[in-house]
Amino acid sequence: MNAHGDALVDEVLSTGTLKDLPQGHFIGGRFVKAMSDNAMESFDPGRGRAFARFAAGDAADVDAAVASAKAALNGPWRQMSPPERGRILQKAAALLRERAHRFAVVESLDSGKRLVEAEGDLRGVSRAFEYYAGAADKLQGDSLPLGRNYIGFTTEEPVGVTAQIIPWNYPLSTAARGIAPALAAGCTVVAKPAEQTPFTTLMLAELLHEAGLPDGVLNVITGTGAQAGAPLVAHPDVDHITFTGSVATGMQVMRSAADHVTRLILELGGKSPLVVLADCNIDAALSGVVEAIYENAGQICSAGSRLIVERGIADEFLGRLLARVEKFKIGHGLTNPDLGPINSLRQLEAIDGHVQRAIAAGNHVHTGGAIAKSEATGGGWFYQPTIISAQGLSDPLVQEEIFGPVLTVQIVNDIDEALIAANATSYALVAGIYSTNIVSALRFARDVDAGQVYINEFFAGGIEVPFGGNRKSGFGREKGMAGVRGYCKLKSVVARI
Ligand code: ADP
Repeated sequence: MNAHGDALVDEVLSTGTLKDLPQGHFIGGRFVKAMSDNAMESFDPGRGRAFARFAAGDAADVDAAVASAKAALNGPWRQMSPPERGRILQKAAALLRERAHRFAVVESLDSGKRLVEAEGDLRGVSRAFEYYAGAADKLQGDSLPLGRNYIGFTTEEPVGVTAQIIPWNYPLSTAARGIAPALAAGCTVVAKPAEQTPFTTLMLAELLHEAGLPDGVLNVITGTGAQAGAPLVAHPDVDHITFTGSVATGMQVMRSAADHVTRLILELGGKSPLVVLADCNIDAALSGVVEAIYENAGQICSAGSRLIVERGIADEFLGRLLARVEKFKIGHGLTNPDLGPINSLRQLEAIDGHVQRAIAAGNHVHTGGAIAKSEATGGGWFYQPTIISAQGLSDPLVQEEIFGPVLTVQIVNDIDEALIAANATSYALVAGIYSTNIVSALRFARDVDAGQVYINEFFAGGIEVPFGGNRKSGFGREKGMAGVRGYCKLKSVVARI
């Protein structure tokens, strides 16, 4: 591959790895080896080759991390005032901005995502720390109107030790949207990044300590879901779990949480509709659809994976969409192609399985439909950008999450049919609509079942906007002020005077 004039990118592209990646778990304010001394490999999806090793944790490491987080609840952290906590988060936001490039390169290398997207993620991660820095001293309660003879009020207390189970598609973004509000609320944290993408969460823990976080407040355990994730969510000293991942694993986590009545937030899958009505601004809708399904190669729980288009413009819209998508260049994430790789071979094969079953069932493929290779290296885990028509609402292409660059097309006659199609799955995470008719757009917003609705810009908004799903997409909300309240327990105090 060619030199890119960027020292870190060139280092990866010429040596296949990066120097000075964090080693070990992060427990009690420092990096420590796995007690078993076991390690596992992390892969560069753009080449399909291992680039580094990391600690493979198990229940013994989890016990140490949870003990550290529990002890830290009663240490200097507890004595810090809310603005002092806020200042640490603010400092972390500033350090993240200074070091954004290295974080973004590591994130891109580990997850496969395009460097420009990883840089965007880093801006969002800094914003998350900045936003929750400002929230730390605003977690106030209410006074309760009980009449002259009583004084009643509520206080918001930290829930305690929180476990953060993080997926591989947005490693640092997901870690930040859980860790920042948990710290703002005064909780402590044990984070478990996905085994495919461990490094940026470890880097974040180190950075937060540099920003002044006391030892033990944030701990990171790396390893597999079975060996490290399962003992963490089953741990009796964990008070709250934030899980982002698949529905199947979310169900296991929920069962495990039931044993200790542990609170939890589940952010699971999606099969989100993107409705394009005939009265839309077509250029804006085209860009919106491309971003909704091809950003991060479609590996987004909130991807707009179902295009629901009104018949009057369906042919024109699809024609123009195909013209754009067929020009896509595939390549290593660090070279900023139009479409980056799939995170793992297992995920690549799962995506292709969905598509091949649809082809065998007679679905019409407009473009794509196969595994691809990087032109530059001949290797890596890539999938062609794919667009396929659905056959009715019960079609697996409508019902099943694919988690890849595969857009399903459903054609409808009007907004009423669009709403029926939009609500036809067991998921309800996000939904989008492109229309210049405010009545149609707001009717859609009212009647669609989703945690978040985007009108005329898919993925609009940032850390300020509460995010989460309904039905099989999970429950609980992250981001926004709702996100920080999830890490508080409300106490009511009433005095007779
Ligand atoms: P995927 O199947 O795409 O890898 P998962 O939902 O299984 O997605 O993984 C999301 C996160 O959950 C990862 O950090 C993974 O290690 C973790 N995980 C997997 N299985 C479990 C489990 N049984 N308990 C807790 N965490 C788990």
